[in-house]
Amino acid sequence: MLIVGASVAGLSTAGTLRDEGFPGGITMIGDEDALPYGRPPLSKQILSGEWPIDESALCTPAELDRLGIRLVRGTAAVSLDPSERVVTTASGDDMRYGTLVVATGASARRPPYGDGLGGVHCLRTRADATALRADLATARHAVVAGAGVLGSEIAAGLRKLGLAVTLVGRSPELRLAQAGALLSPLIARLHREHGVDLRLGEEVVALRGADRVSAARLSGGDVIETDLVVAAIGCVPNTGWLSSSGLDVSNGVVCDSAGRAAPGVFAAGDVAAWTDPATGIPARVGHQLNAAEQAQIVARTIATGAVPTAQPVPFFWSELFGTKIQVFGRCDGVSLDTIAGDTSSGRFVAAVQRDGVVTGIVGWNMPRDFRIARERVGRPAEGLDRSRQRVH
Ligand SMILES: Cc1cc2nc3c(=O)[nH]c(=O)nc-3n(C[C@H](O)[C@H](O)[C@H](O)COP(=O)(O)OP(=O)(O)OC[C@H]3O[C@@H](n4cnc5c(N)ncnc54)[C@H](O)[C@@H]3O)c2cc1C
Repeated sequence: MLIVGASVAGLSTAGTLRDEGFPGGITMIGDEDALPYGRPPLSKQILSGEWPIDESALCTPAELDRLGIRLVRGTAAVSLDPSERVVTTASGDDMRYGTLVVATGASARRPPYGDGLGGVHCLRTRADATALRADLATARHAVVAGAGVLGSEIAAGLRKLGLAVTLVGRSPELRLAQAGALLSPLIARLHREHGVDLRLGEEVVALRGADRVSAARLSGGDVIETDLVVAAIGCVPNTGWLSSSGLDVSNGVVCDSAGRAAPGVFAAGDVAAWTDPATGIPARVGHQLNAAEQAQIVARTIATGAVPTAQPVPFFWSELFGTKIQVFGRCDGVSLDTIAGDTSSGRFVAAVQRDGVVTGIVGWNMPRDFRIARERVGRPAEGLDRSRQRVH
Protein backbone atom coordinates (compact mmCIF):
# COMPACT_ATOMS: atom_id res chain seq x y z
CA MET A 1 0.00 0.00 0.00
CA LEU A 2 1.25 3.45 -0.84
CA ILE A 3 -0.54 6.50 0.55
CA VAL A 4 0.46 9.93 -0.75
CA GLY A 5 -0.44 12.72 1.69
CA ALA A 6 0.13 12.32 5.43
CA SER A 7 -2.75 14.13 7.07
CA VAL A 8 -6.28 13.21 8.14
CA ALA A 9 -7.25 11.23 5.05
CA GLY A 10 -3.86 9.50 4.73
CA LEU A 11 -3.61 8.58 8.38
CA SER A 12 -7.25 7.41 8.57
CA THR A 13 -6.67 5.20 5.54
CA ALA A 14 -3.61 3.60 7.13
CA GLY A 15 -5.23 3.15 10.56
CA THR A 16 -8.42 1.63 9.14
CA LEU A 17 -6.44 -0.76 6.94
CA ARG A 18 -4.83 -2.13 10.10
CA ASP A 19 -8.17 -2.18 11.98
CA GLU A 20 -9.57 -4.27 9.12
CA GLY A 21 -6.65 -6.71 9.37
CA PHE A 22 -4.70 -5.62 6.29
CA PRO A 23 -1.44 -7.59 6.66
CA GLY A 24 0.74 -5.98 4.00
CA GLY A 25 3.26 -3.15 4.12
CA ILE A 26 1.91 0.41 4.36
CA THR A 27 4.06 3.37 3.31
CA MET A 28 2.74 6.91 3.66
CA ILE A 29 4.63 9.85 2.17
CA GLY A 30 3.98 13.48 2.99
CA ASP A 31 5.68 16.67 1.87
CA GLU A 32 5.42 18.39 5.26
CA ASP A 33 8.14 17.81 7.86
CA ALA A 34 5.73 17.56 10.80
CA LEU A 35 3.97 14.45 12.03
CA PRO A 36 0.38 14.26 10.72
CA TYR A 37 -1.67 17.04 12.37
CA GLY A 38 -5.22 18.36 12.37
CA ARG A 39 -5.92 21.73 10.78
CA PRO A 40 -9.12 22.76 12.68
CA PRO A 41 -7.19 23.96 15.78
CA LEU A 42 -5.00 26.22 13.61
CA SER A 43 -7.83 28.76 13.28
CA LYS A 44 -9.15 28.20 16.80
CA GLN A 45 -7.04 27.19 19.84
CA ILE A 46 -3.67 27.76 18.14
CA LEU A 47 -4.60 31.13 16.65
CA SER A 48 -5.86 32.26 20.05
CA GLY A 49 -2.71 30.99 21.79
CA GLU A 50 -4.61 28.51 24.02
CA TRP A 51 -2.69 25.54 22.58
CA PRO A 52 0.95 25.17 21.63
CA ILE A 53 1.36 24.13 18.00
CA ASP A 54 2.26 20.51 18.85
CA GLU A 55 -1.22 19.95 20.38
CA SER A 56 -2.50 19.60 16.81
CA ALA A 57 -0.56 16.34 16.21
CA LEU A 58 -2.78 13.40 15.26
CA CYS A 59 -0.36 10.62 16.24
CA THR A 60 3.01 9.86 17.79
CA PRO A 61 5.93 8.01 16.15
CA ALA A 62 5.30 5.16 18.63
CA GLU A 63 1.69 4.78 17.43
CA LEU A 64 2.82 4.65 13.80
CA ASP A 65 5.40 1.99 14.74
CA ARG A 66 2.78 -0.04 16.61
CA LEU A 67 0.53 -0.01 13.52
CA GLY A 68 3.44 -0.89 11.23
CA ILE A 69 3.06 2.27 9.16
CA ARG A 70 6.20 3.61 7.51
CA LEU A 71 5.98 7.39 7.32
CA VAL A 72 8.32 9.19 4.92
CA ARG A 73 8.17 12.87 5.87
CA GLY A 74 9.35 15.93 3.93
CA THR A 75 9.01 14.05 0.64
CA ALA A 76 6.77 15.20 -2.21
CA ALA A 77 5.38 12.93 -4.89
CA VAL A 78 6.00 14.57 -8.26
CA SER A 79 4.43 12.14 -10.72
CA LEU A 80 2.34 8.98 -11.08
CA ASP A 81 2.39 6.30 -13.75
CA PRO A 82 -0.74 4.26 -13.05
CA SER A 83 -0.04 1.68 -15.77
CA GLU A 84 3.37 0.80 -14.24
CA ARG A 85 2.06 1.45 -10.70
CA VAL A 86 4.91 3.81 -9.82
CA VAL A 87 5.01 7.09 -7.93
CA THR A 88 8.14 9.20 -8.36
CA THR A 89 9.29 11.51 -5.56
CA ALA A 90 11.08 14.87 -5.68
CA SER A 91 14.33 13.14 -4.77
CA GLY A 92 13.98 10.92 -7.84
CA ASP A 93 12.98 7.69 -6.06
CA ASP A 94 10.51 5.41 -7.82
CA MET A 95 8.05 3.94 -5.33
CA ARG A 96 6.19 0.86 -6.59
CA TYR A 97 2.78 0.02 -5.20
CA GLY A 98 0.03 -2.55 -5.41
CA THR A 99 -2.70 -0.08 -4.43
CA LEU A 100 -2.36 3.70 -4.19
CA VAL A 101 -4.45 6.12 -2.16
CA VAL A 102 -4.18 9.78 -3.16
CA ALA A 103 -4.71 11.92 -0.04
CA THR A 104 -2.87 15.10 -0.97
CA GLY A 105 -5.60 17.47 0.22
CA ALA A 106 -5.65 21.10 -0.81
CA SER A 107 -3.58 24.28 -0.53
CA ALA A 108 -4.67 27.79 0.36
CA ARG A 109 -5.59 29.88 -2.66
CA ARG A 110 -3.00 32.68 -2.77
CA PRO A 111 -4.33 36.23 -3.19
CA PRO A 112 -3.32 38.28 -6.25
CA TYR A 113 -1.93 41.03 -3.97
CA GLY A 114 0.67 41.39 -1.23
CA ASP A 115 3.40 39.23 -2.73
CA GLY A 116 6.56 39.77 -0.66
CA LEU A 117 4.87 42.25 1.70
CA GLY A 118 5.23 41.63 5.46
CA GLY A 119 2.08 41.09 7.50
CA VAL A 120 0.19 39.26 4.72
CA HIS A 121 -0.85 35.68 5.51
CA CYS A 122 -2.82 32.61 4.48
CA LEU A 123 -3.75 29.87 6.96
CA ARG A 124 -3.58 26.23 5.89
CA THR A 125 -0.44 24.72 7.44
CA ARG A 126 1.43 24.62 10.75
CA ALA A 127 4.05 26.89 9.17
CA ASP A 128 1.32 29.40 8.22
CA ALA A 129 -0.06 29.32 11.77
CA THR A 130 3.38 29.84 13.31
CA ALA A 131 4.09 32.81 11.01
CA LEU A 132 0.69 34.37 11.75
CA ARG A 133 1.10 33.93 15.51
CA ALA A 134 4.52 35.60 15.36
CA ASP A 135 3.03 38.65 13.61
CA LEU A 136 0.28 39.02 16.20
CA ALA A 137 2.71 40.34 18.79
CA THR A 138 2.70 43.78 17.16
CA ALA A 139 -0.50 43.84 15.09
CA ARG A 140 -3.34 46.18 16.07
CA HIS A 141 -5.71 46.04 13.10
CA ALA A 142 -6.44 43.10 10.82
CA VAL A 143 -8.22 42.86 7.50
CA VAL A 144 -9.52 39.35 6.87
CA ALA A 145 -10.26 38.77 3.18
CA GLY A 146 -12.85 36.08 2.51
CA ALA A 147 -16.07 35.62 4.47
CA GLY A 148 -16.31 31.84 4.35
CA VAL A 149 -16.06 29.73 7.44
CA LEU A 150 -12.29 30.09 7.73
CA GLY A 151 -12.46 33.89 7.36
CA SER A 152 -15.18 34.03 10.03
CA GLU A 153 -13.14 31.88 12.41
CA ILE A 154 -10.00 33.96 11.90
CA ALA A 155 -11.95 37.21 12.40
CA ALA A 156 -13.45 35.83 15.63
CA GLY A 157 -10.05 34.62 16.87
CA LEU A 158 -8.37 37.95 16.17
CA ARG A 159 -11.17 39.90 17.89
CA LYS A 160 -10.71 37.67 20.93
CA LEU A 161 -7.06 38.75 20.97
CA GLY A 162 -8.14 42.39 21.02
CA LEU A 163 -7.38 43.40 17.41
CA ALA A 164 -9.69 45.70 15.48
CA VAL A 165 -10.97 43.46 12.66
CA THR A 166 -12.49 44.19 9.26
CA LEU A 167 -13.96 41.12 7.56
CA VAL A 168 -14.36 41.53 3.81
CA GLY A 169 -16.47 39.13 1.70
CA ARG A 170 -17.09 39.29 -2.02
CA SER A 171 -20.54 37.73 -1.88
CA PRO A 172 -23.41 39.54 -0.16
CA GLU A 173 -23.72 36.61 2.27
CA LEU A 174 -21.42 35.03 4.79
CA ARG A 175 -20.66 31.43 3.89
CA LEU A 176 -20.73 28.65 6.44
CA ALA A 177 -20.11 25.35 4.71
CA GLN A 178 -23.30 24.09 3.10
CA ALA A 179 -25.56 26.24 5.30
CA GLY A 180 -24.17 29.65 4.39
CA ALA A 181 -27.16 31.30 2.80
CA LEU A 182 -29.57 30.16 5.53
CA LEU A 183 -27.32 31.10 8.44
CA SER A 184 -25.72 34.25 7.05
CA PRO A 185 -27.94 36.76 8.91
CA LEU A 186 -27.27 35.01 12.23
CA ILE A 187 -23.53 34.84 11.68
CA ALA A 188 -23.46 38.47 10.57
CA ARG A 189 -25.23 39.40 13.81
CA LEU A 190 -22.64 37.48 15.84
CA HIS A 191 -19.79 39.31 14.11
CA ARG A 192 -21.37 42.72 14.57
CA GLU A 193 -22.23 42.08 18.24
CA HIS A 194 -18.55 41.33 18.79
CA GLY A 195 -17.33 44.45 17.06
CA VAL A 196 -16.22 43.06 13.68
CA ASP A 197 -16.49 45.64 10.88
CA LEU A 198 -18.27 43.52 8.27
CA ARG A 199 -17.92 44.51 4.61
CA LEU A 200 -19.99 42.18 2.44
CA GLY A 201 -20.28 42.55 -1.31
CA GLU A 202 -16.75 43.98 -1.50
CA GLU A 203 -13.28 42.56 -1.95
CA VAL A 204 -9.72 43.54 -1.24
CA VAL A 205 -8.23 44.73 -4.54
CA ALA A 206 -4.81 46.06 -3.52
CA LEU A 207 -2.50 46.52 -0.58
CA ARG A 208 -0.24 49.44 0.31
CA GLY A 209 2.97 49.39 2.29
CA ALA A 210 6.74 49.51 1.90
CA ASP A 211 8.10 46.40 3.67
CA ARG A 212 4.99 45.70 5.65
CA VAL A 213 1.35 46.18 4.75
CA SER A 214 -0.06 49.51 5.94
CA ALA A 215 -3.46 49.64 4.21
CA ALA A 216 -5.91 47.62 2.12
CA ARG A 217 -7.99 49.10 -0.69
CA LEU A 218 -11.47 47.64 -1.16
CA SER A 219 -13.39 47.37 -4.43
CA GLY A 220 -15.88 49.99 -3.17
CA GLY A 221 -13.02 52.51 -2.93
CA ASP A 222 -12.49 52.56 0.87
CA VAL A 223 -8.91 52.38 2.10
CA ILE A 224 -8.54 50.65 5.46
CA GLU A 225 -5.40 51.19 7.51
CA THR A 226 -4.13 47.86 8.73
CA ASP A 227 -0.94 46.13 9.79
CA LEU A 228 -2.15 42.57 9.16
CA VAL A 229 -4.00 40.94 6.26
CA VAL A 230 -5.16 37.34 6.33
CA ALA A 231 -6.48 35.96 3.04
CA ALA A 232 -8.99 33.14 3.48
CA ILE A 233 -10.25 32.97 -0.09
CA GLY A 234 -10.62 29.24 -0.54
CA CYS A 235 -8.34 26.39 -1.43
CA VAL A 236 -7.22 24.47 -4.49
CA PRO A 237 -6.83 20.67 -4.64
CA ASN A 238 -3.23 19.41 -4.73
CA THR A 239 -3.29 17.62 -8.09
CA GLY A 240 -0.32 19.24 -9.87
CA TRP A 241 1.77 16.11 -9.37
CA LEU A 242 -0.89 14.07 -11.22
CA SER A 243 -0.95 16.22 -14.37
CA SER A 244 0.74 13.58 -16.56
CA SER A 245 -0.98 10.58 -14.92
CA GLY A 246 -4.01 10.42 -17.20
CA LEU A 247 -6.34 10.63 -14.17
CA ASP A 248 -9.27 13.03 -14.46
CA VAL A 249 -8.16 15.96 -12.28
CA SER A 250 -10.62 18.49 -13.69
CA ASN A 251 -12.07 19.17 -10.20
CA GLY A 252 -9.69 17.46 -7.80
CA VAL A 253 -9.29 13.74 -8.43
CA VAL A 254 -12.59 12.68 -9.97
CA CYS A 255 -13.72 9.31 -8.54
CA ASP A 256 -16.72 7.02 -8.68
CA SER A 257 -19.03 6.88 -5.66
CA ALA A 258 -16.59 4.66 -3.75
CA GLY A 259 -13.42 6.71 -4.23
CA ARG A 260 -12.00 4.75 -7.20
CA ALA A 261 -10.08 6.94 -9.65
CA ALA A 262 -8.42 4.24 -11.82
CA PRO A 263 -7.54 0.54 -11.45
CA GLY A 264 -5.54 0.30 -8.20
CA VAL A 265 -5.92 4.03 -7.47
CA PHE A 266 -8.28 5.56 -4.90
CA ALA A 267 -8.60 9.13 -3.61
CA ALA A 268 -10.01 10.45 -0.33
CA GLY A 269 -10.35 13.74 1.52
CA ASP A 270 -10.09 17.33 0.30
CA VAL A 271 -8.36 16.33 -2.95
CA ALA A 272 -11.10 13.89 -3.99
CA ALA A 273 -14.34 14.51 -5.89
CA TRP A 274 -16.54 11.49 -5.27
CA THR A 275 -19.52 11.08 -7.56
CA ASP A 276 -22.87 11.45 -5.84
CA PRO A 277 -24.82 8.36 -6.93
CA ALA A 278 -28.10 10.33 -6.76
CA THR A 279 -27.03 13.15 -9.09
CA GLY A 280 -24.08 11.64 -10.95
CA ILE A 281 -22.11 14.81 -10.14
CA PRO A 282 -18.60 14.61 -8.65
CA ALA A 283 -18.13 17.02 -5.76
CA ARG A 284 -15.34 17.91 -3.39
CA VAL A 285 -16.12 18.35 0.32
CA GLY A 286 -13.67 20.29 2.47
CA HIS A 287 -14.47 18.96 5.94
CA GLN A 288 -12.31 16.99 8.29
CA LEU A 289 -14.87 14.30 9.14
CA ASN A 290 -15.61 13.74 5.48
CA ALA A 291 -11.87 13.18 4.86
CA ALA A 292 -11.74 10.61 7.68
CA GLU A 293 -14.94 8.83 6.59
CA GLN A 294 -13.98 8.63 2.92
CA ALA A 295 -10.60 7.23 3.99
CA GLN A 296 -12.32 4.58 6.13
CA ILE A 297 -14.56 3.54 3.24
CA VAL A 298 -11.57 3.29 0.88
CA ALA A 299 -9.53 1.30 3.40
CA ARG A 300 -12.39 -1.16 4.02
CA THR A 301 -12.86 -1.64 0.28
CA ILE A 302 -9.13 -2.36 -0.12
CA ALA A 303 -8.86 -4.62 2.93
CA THR A 304 -12.06 -6.63 2.51
CA GLY A 305 -13.15 -6.14 -1.09
CA ALA A 306 -16.58 -5.12 0.26
CA VAL A 307 -18.50 -2.71 -1.94
CA PRO A 308 -19.58 0.30 0.14
CA THR A 309 -23.31 0.92 0.28
CA ALA A 310 -23.42 4.45 1.64
CA GLN A 311 -21.47 7.67 1.19
CA PRO A 312 -20.52 9.86 4.15
CA VAL A 313 -23.16 12.45 5.05
CA PRO A 314 -21.47 15.88 5.16
CA PHE A 315 -20.91 16.99 8.74
CA PHE A 316 -19.25 20.20 9.71
CA TRP A 317 -18.68 22.17 12.91
CA SER A 318 -17.26 25.54 13.77
CA GLU A 319 -16.92 27.81 16.75
CA LEU A 320 -17.41 31.56 16.54
CA PHE A 321 -17.23 33.81 19.61
CA GLY A 322 -17.98 30.85 21.88
CA THR A 323 -20.96 29.74 19.77
CA LYS A 324 -20.76 26.13 18.63
CA ILE A 325 -22.28 25.73 15.18
CA GLN A 326 -22.88 22.24 13.74
CA VAL A 327 -24.25 21.35 10.32
CA PHE A 328 -25.25 17.84 9.26
CA GLY A 329 -26.51 16.84 5.83
CA ARG A 330 -27.37 19.05 2.89
CA CYS A 331 -28.51 22.56 3.69
CA ASP A 332 -29.29 24.01 0.28
CA GLY A 333 -32.98 23.70 1.17
CA VAL A 334 -35.61 26.37 1.06
CA SER A 335 -36.24 26.99 4.75
CA LEU A 336 -34.78 26.55 8.19
CA ASP A 337 -37.33 25.72 10.92
CA THR A 338 -36.38 25.56 14.59
CA ILE A 339 -37.21 22.29 16.29
CA ALA A 340 -35.61 23.04 19.68
CA GLY A 341 -34.63 26.25 21.47
CA ASP A 342 -35.06 29.56 19.68
CA THR A 343 -32.86 31.95 17.78
CA SER A 344 -33.38 34.91 20.13
CA SER A 345 -31.91 32.94 23.05
CA GLY A 346 -28.82 32.04 21.01
CA ARG A 347 -29.49 28.30 21.36
CA PHE A 348 -31.45 26.34 18.79
CA VAL A 349 -31.61 23.32 16.55
CA ALA A 350 -33.21 23.77 13.13
CA ALA A 351 -34.15 21.51 10.23
CA VAL A 352 -33.64 22.27 6.56
CA GLN A 353 -36.22 20.82 4.19
CA ARG A 354 -36.59 20.46 0.48
CA ASP A 355 -39.52 18.85 -1.38
CA GLY A 356 -41.09 17.69 1.88
CA VAL A 357 -37.98 15.88 3.14
CA VAL A 358 -35.55 16.90 5.88
CA THR A 359 -32.17 17.27 4.17
CA GLY A 360 -30.09 18.81 6.92
CA ILE A 361 -29.89 19.80 10.59
CA VAL A 362 -28.23 22.89 12.03
CA GLY A 363 -27.22 23.13 15.69
CA TRP A 364 -26.45 26.46 17.33
CA ASN A 365 -25.03 26.04 20.83
CA MET A 366 -27.18 22.91 21.47
CA PRO A 367 -24.86 19.94 20.78
CA ARG A 368 -26.95 17.33 22.61
CA ASP A 369 -30.23 18.19 20.88
CA PHE A 370 -28.36 18.48 17.58
CA ARG A 371 -27.05 14.92 17.97
CA ILE A 372 -30.56 13.57 18.50
CA ALA A 373 -32.09 15.65 15.68
CA ARG A 374 -29.62 14.31 13.11
CA GLU A 375 -31.74 11.18 12.86
CA ARG A 376 -34.44 13.22 11.11
CA VAL A 377 -32.34 13.62 7.97
CA GLY A 378 -33.94 11.74 5.09
CA ARG A 379 -37.33 11.57 6.86
CA PRO A 380 -40.53 13.37 5.77
CA ALA A 381 -40.67 16.97 6.94
CA GLU A 382 -44.35 16.74 8.08
CA GLY A 383 -43.21 16.09 11.64
CA LEU A 384 -41.69 19.56 11.87
CA ASP A 385 -43.61 21.69 14.28
CA ARG A 386 -44.98 24.39 11.99
CA SER A 387 -45.91 26.61 14.93
CA ARG A 388 -42.23 26.98 15.73
CA GLN A 389 -40.22 29.91 14.57
CA ARG A 390 -38.98 30.02 11.00
CA VAL A 391 -35.35 31.17 11.01
CA HIS A 392 -35.21 32.00 7.34
C1 LIG B 1 -7.31 26.48 9.37
C2 LIG B 1 -8.30 25.39 9.03
C3 LIG B 1 -9.35 25.13 9.90
C4 LIG B 1 -10.28 24.12 9.60
N1 LIG B 1 -11.32 23.89 10.46
C5 LIG B 1 -12.22 22.91 10.19
C6 LIG B 1 -13.31 22.65 11.07
O1 LIG B 1 -13.50 23.33 12.07
N2 LIG B 1 -14.15 21.62 10.76
C7 LIG B 1 -13.98 20.85 9.65
O2 LIG B 1 -14.76 19.93 9.40
N3 LIG B 1 -12.94 21.07 8.79
C8 LIG B 1 -12.07 22.08 9.03
N4 LIG B 1 -11.03 22.32 8.17
C9 LIG B 1 -10.89 21.47 6.97
C10 LIG B 1 -10.08 20.22 7.30
O3 LIG B 1 -8.88 20.57 7.95
C11 LIG B 1 -9.78 19.46 6.01
O4 LIG B 1 -11.01 19.01 5.49
C12 LIG B 1 -8.84 18.29 6.24
O5 LIG B 1 -7.57 18.74 6.66
C13 LIG B 1 -8.69 17.45 4.96
O6 LIG B 1 -7.75 16.45 5.19
P1 LIG B 1 -6.92 15.78 3.98
O7 LIG B 1 -6.05 14.75 4.64
O8 LIG B 1 -7.84 15.37 2.91
O9 LIG B 1 -6.04 16.95 3.35
P2 LIG B 1 -4.97 17.92 3.97
O10 LIG B 1 -5.25 18.17 5.42
O11 LIG B 1 -4.87 19.08 3.06
O12 LIG B 1 -3.60 17.09 3.92
C14 LIG B 1 -2.97 16.72 2.73
C15 LIG B 1 -1.50 16.48 3.02
O13 LIG B 1 -0.87 16.02 1.81
C16 LIG B 1 0.33 16.77 1.62
N5 LIG B 1 0.68 16.79 0.19
C17 LIG B 1 0.15 17.58 -0.79
N6 LIG B 1 0.73 17.31 -1.98
C18 LIG B 1 1.63 16.35 -1.75
C19 LIG B 1 2.54 15.64 -2.60
N7 LIG B 1 2.62 15.88 -3.92
N8 LIG B 1 3.34 14.69 -2.04
C20 LIG B 1 3.27 14.42 -0.70
N9 LIG B 1 2.42 15.06 0.14
C21 LIG B 1 1.61 16.00 -0.38
C22 LIG B 1 -0.03 18.14 2.17
O14 LIG B 1 1.12 18.93 2.43
C23 LIG B 1 -0.77 17.74 3.43
O15 LIG B 1 0.12 17.46 4.48
C24 LIG B 1 -10.12 23.35 8.42
C25 LIG B 1 -9.06 23.63 7.54
C26 LIG B 1 -8.16 24.65 7.84
C27 LIG B 1 -7.03 24.96 6.88
